[in-house]
Amino acid sequence: MVLVLGGAGYIGSHAVKMLLDRGEEVIVVDNLETGHIEAVGAGVKFYNVDIRNYEALKAVFEAHAIDAVMHFSANSLVGESVKLPIKYFDNNVTGANVLLRVMSEFGVKKIIFSSTAAVYGEPNEVPITENCETKPESPYGESKLMMEKMFKWVDLAHGIKYVSLRYFNVAGADSSGTIGEAHVVETHLIPLVLEVPLGKRKAISVFGEDYPTKDGTCIRDYIHVVDLIDAHLLALEYLRAGNESDIFNLGTGEGFSVKEIIDISRKITGHPIPVEIGPRRAGDPSVLVASAEKAKRILGWEPHLSNVERVITDAWRWHKGHPEGYVNS
Ligand code: UDP
Repeated sequence: MVLVLGGAGYIGSHAVKMLLDRGEEVIVVDNLETGHIEAVGAGVKFYNVDIRNYEALKAVFEAHAIDAVMHFSANSLVGESVKLPIKYFDNNVTGANVLLRVMSEFGVKKIIFSSTAAVYGEPNEVPITENCETKPESPYGESKLMMEKMFKWVDLAHGIKYVSLRYFNVAGADSSGTIGEAHVVETHLIPLVLEVPLGKRKAISVFGEDYPTKDGTCIRDYIHVVDLIDAHLLALEYLRAGNESDIFNLGTGEGFSVKEIIDISRKITGHPIPVEIGPRRAGDPSVLVASAEKAKRILGWEPHLSNVERVITDAWRWHKGHPEGYVNS
């Protein structure tokens, strides 16, 4: 049985669905701070629990024979984390500490963990490999790096094996159109761009066009959420096969500029999507592109859906069908 922490969130809900599709038994823990109960499939055992709540989390482990944990419950906004670092260290780092305590008490030895490209900060080289220096430029990135270090030491002491997956820019949605990205305050580029053809905003702001890139806008590596979860399923197999803890980047190796994303979105939606050029957003590195060779080599991962046309087409299907996101939760 797999315990999915944060299974009511954007990425976690895709993990729940894909685990169930594979015939896995799944239970979900989420405090619904940013998640939506509607995103959790019908019939899935759900606990409204905050992972910092030791007693409540312990009760979940007591009630189920958990073999592995997938951990998606964290705060994840770079900008917010700069303003509210204590919130990030509390939820992300304290949360991980309580979780590791419970896992060690119950002898649960496998965890797959959402890390981030934000651990690298402004990279010294592109594409970014797992060996690149980690020097986060935000409390969010720092909190994830701290969590990775906690997992390392707890593995040494208690044999809890982990796979840390450093995500680049996750986007898109499951092809069913039933689950997708629905943040109360949206900050991510693709859902914000799509709010223009939805009639929810007049134009998309481009945060800076004076970067040292081909068109002056930032370049990112956009990975389809379904490909991303495929890597989690492979990581689960990898840990179940008795392999050692490890860290993998998840990206496509290909970068797209903000202006390219807007252009492709215009083609897909048929909307002119007006642009306003604004100042740079603090903390944005100019280019973040992954080398995902290690995940391919060791996990056997192949991202099949991660071309930006497909990513934006799938995101658009979800947003068109749910212009207000999840309406009941
Ligand atoms: N971006 C933008 N306008 C927006 C939102 C984002 O120009 O309204 C840019 C942002 O500066 C970054 C890229 O789009 O270069 C991706 O940002 P996002 O927040 O989606 O992901 P991040 O790379 O910060 O994880």
